Amino acid sequence: MAYDVSDALVFFGATGDLAYKQVFPALQALAKRGHLNMPVIGVAGRSWTSEQLRDHARQSLQEHGGVDEAAFAQLAPRLTYIGGDYHAAETYQKLRQALGDAKRPLHYLAIPPSLFATVVEGLQQSGCDQNARVVLEKPFGRDLESAQELNKILTSVFPEDAIFRIDHYLGKEPVQNLLYFRFANSFLEPIWNREYIDSIQITMAENFGVEDRGKFYEEAGAIRDVVENHLLQVAALLTMEPPARGAPDAIRDAKTQVVKAMQPLSIANVVRGQYQGYRQTPGVAPDSTVETFAAVKLRIDSRRWEGVPIYIRAGKCLPVTSTEVLVELKRPPRVVFDATEPEHANYYRFRLSPDVTIALGARVKQPGEAMQGEPTELIARHIPGGDEMLPYERLLSDAMHGDQTLFAREDMVEAAWSVVDPILGNATPLHEYAPGTWGPPQANALIAGNGVWHNPQVDPLASKQ
Ligand code: NDP
Repeated sequence: MAYDVSDALVFFGATGDLAYKQVFPALQALAKRGHLNMPVIGVAGRSWTSEQLRDHARQSLQEHGGVDEAAFAQLAPRLTYIGGDYHAAETYQKLRQALGDAKRPLHYLAIPPSLFATVVEGLQQSGCDQNARVVLEKPFGRDLESAQELNKILTSVFPEDAIFRIDHYLGKEPVQNLLYFRFANSFLEPIWNREYIDSIQITMAENFGVEDRGKFYEEAGAIRDVVENHLLQVAALLTMEPPARGAPDAIRDAKTQVVKAMQPLSIANVVRGQYQGYRQTPGVAPDSTVETFAAVKLRIDSRRWEGVPIYIRAGKCLPVTSTEVLVELKRPPRVVFDATEPEHANYYRFRLSPDVTIALGARVKQPGEAMQGEPTELIARHIPGGDEMLPYERLLSDAMHGDQTLFAREDMVEAAWSVVDPILGNATPLHEYAPGTWGPPQANALIAGNGVWHNPQVDPLASKQ
């Protein structure tokens, strides 16, 4: 579907960390492709000049991806800066003036969530909301109630088709590939159900701690930071029904439908952990009970998935940094070969980061007299790390074009919070684990009915390249 393109990009939080690490590289990439033919107005608290913002942008690029002089020459003259408090009406008056005769501005709120409502109201009172689109950063609320409250404020000012709730994870190439692989191949659909699939595992492992983000992390924890959003989205892409082609919003409809069918998590289906040493991190309370590890067992109430558990695990200070999905198929009957064949032989493995792999786990016969097998993987795709379009480039470009496919809709966000709401905070015990391990041993008991956790390796194929 074609929409009218935004003709000005306003980014709140221009001097912040996210802008520095992600937004300037995305803007340069957009400029490089010739997709940034509009003024770009940064708005933040400190009293900088536009020249200072441009210097800051260059510095950001030097640290994050490198300066492309030709692209930067396109970007820099478009960048201007407005300094002012988000609580002050004057800030928005200056913005109104700077927007000039722009007819379809895009306001990107790369700011702390506590300020979302203030800025949205400021935009409305100054008339900067007219015919505008608004992009919001995650986290979108802290629980179901706060998400509903925020949605109420937003939709009182902007129509839903002008609201873009970012989950940058959805902009990642390998995550897109999941959706593509599922629905572009006819061999998957006949087996993609409870008849053939035994369980699904999703692991997001990081081999580092919270580092200098202790204060931020204390407000989040693993469940709010990555399970409620990124990992439920991955689960939704793996389990959604085929979207009806051509129907407006078809992909988001299908995803929302499956998230609504996910049972709210119960206390018995969650294990929370915290790595030893987390409480000594600057910004972290000495008696903090915030989890740096979470493992959950999820069920979907649908004809396709009844009885198929979905295990999700995320943690910091684990042995590797990698995100992998394992879709385990049921074992074949034993009537043909001997009973020594292992239980967990057939699976699909989707490695989403740092490198991308799509693999099918199979058994092949070992040479020799006996009908004995060995495991092998048929690799459909393997791309060593780093070869992808920047997620923020894709998402900002989509928002400028009014395409909401990769953004979270109001009902989807609320459905996702409904899944995790019962287990937020201290609803379940917290177990310590040693850094460099796969989390507390209690997580093993959670999956015991379906075998063991699949632990992603450091790029297992790197040595075979
Ligand atoms: P920062 O704290 O680094 O930046 C905050 C920005 O908001 C600064 O530009 C600051 O301007 C501005 N600001 C804050 N209060 C005011 C105010 N009252 N008036 C005017 N300007 C104000 O935050 P981040 O960049 O880290 O995060 C921004 C958003 O992005 C958050 O929602 C976060 O959850 C999300 N996010 C961040 C990620 C990251 O890696 N940092 C990753 C994913 C999401 P100044 O300092 O000049 O006053």
